[in-house]
Amino acid sequence: MKKACWWCPSRALKGAIFSFVVSLVSLSVATGLFGCKARELVRTTPHMDIGPEYWVRVLLANDVNRCSLGVESIFHITDGAGRTMIPDTLFFRDGEVLDVRLTQGGFQISGRSFESERLIVVASKPHIVGVDGDKYRGKIELRLNPDRQSFDVINHVPAEAYLAGVVGAEMPRHWEPEALKAQAIAARTYCLFIKKRFGRRRNWDVTKTAANQVYLGLKGESRQVWKAVNDTAGQVLFCKQDGAEDIFPSYYSSTCAGHTENSRGVFGDSYGPLCGVTCPYCRDVAKAKHFFWPMAQYSKEEVSKKLTESYSSIRQLGTITGIEVARQSEYEELSRVTKVKVVGADGKSDWLRGEDFRLTVDPTGNTLRSTSFKIVLLGDNWAFMSGRGWGHGVGMCQCGAEGMARAGHTATGILGYYYPGARIARVY
Ligand SMILES: [Zn+2]
Repeated sequence: MKKACWWCPSRALKGAIFSFVVSLVSLSVATGLFGCKARELVRTTPHMDIGPEYWVRVLLANDVNRCSLGVESIFHITDGAGRTMIPDTLFFRDGEVLDVRLTQGGFQISGRSFESERLIVVASKPHIVGVDGDKYRGKIELRLNPDRQSFDVINHVPAEAYLAGVVGAEMPRHWEPEALKAQAIAARTYCLFIKKRFGRRRNWDVTKTAANQVYLGLKGESRQVWKAVNDTAGQVLFCKQDGAEDIFPSYYSSTCAGHTENSRGVFGDSYGPLCGVTCPYCRDVAKAKHFFWPMAQYSKEEVSKKLTESYSSIRQLGTITGIEVARQSEYEELSRVTKVKVVGADGKSDWLRGEDFRLTVDPTGNTLRSTSFKIVLLGDNWAFMSGRGWGHGVGMCQCGAEGMARAGHTATGILGYYYPGARIARVY
């Protein structure tokens, strides 16, 4: 038996010391983790003082007559003219979920009436407001529609905070940092372009869906995403257009399957950097089922119904009995249908862009994944065969961007490849 000496702690004491150290370590680990999480959650929304031209107005909900708001910090509500309707949480408790309803002259929030066509909810730092269970940075606007039968919910958010909710929604957040940075610059350019082109004519700039860019608010954020956004802060893509340099619609899509598409054939607009390039990089990144998608079938009746319901010009053709490829791009790697001829029962016909046709037949875009297909009539069904790629194919191929990043290319190299002739510049 080993003899205890005075400087060696007894077994019981050793146990006590061990337990103490373990709890100390656990405590610091726990504090560290919770501390990180807490820091992340309460991080002050950046760039709140940035100029209005770099705020993005995101349509969160349209034509609704009810929603819920969750505010965890002190907040105030102003009307459209900036007049304060309530100065603080005088009428509502912190953390309370507020029920917003439509009234004749405006809104009712948790039983309290506000006679105003517009209300803006501004929470104090960290400037986060919940809408129907999801949290968003910036401010929330409730705007009565002209018929006063419904209202829109719009998130006013600084561009960088908006992008933090977009990048991780549009690209897996564990992807290479350079791919995430390329995504951040492309998404920033795209949203500022859409804001500039369409924002003046409406009360919002972008939707939160894939119709523009998917935006998830705080749910889409992560440390990697914030790093990509911060590392590229204010950087956008420019190109020469009619002799002058300006931003352009830097479209991007998931998997081009060999060659990106010229935007003219897909969206009708023409920009040098959107001419289409060969892409050997997405094949090893994309899932096989996304690179080659399985045959999709829709009944003739369903296709006719969807087309005639969506386009008045096609409705005039009566029942649609024929669908033909009218034009397609012919790249060595693949071709996409860029124009579809639609024929009615009496022989009259009309045309649709390939991408419009695809999203009318399959609005989700998850079955008819691209316009790289062959159309065949199988019995009473239209069959879309030999499908390749996912998305419209214009601009940056996201899987290709990840492939390039894995091969050691930088964000600048990736963007220069997919948007040839474009230049990166910092606008704020
Ligand atoms: Zn590709």
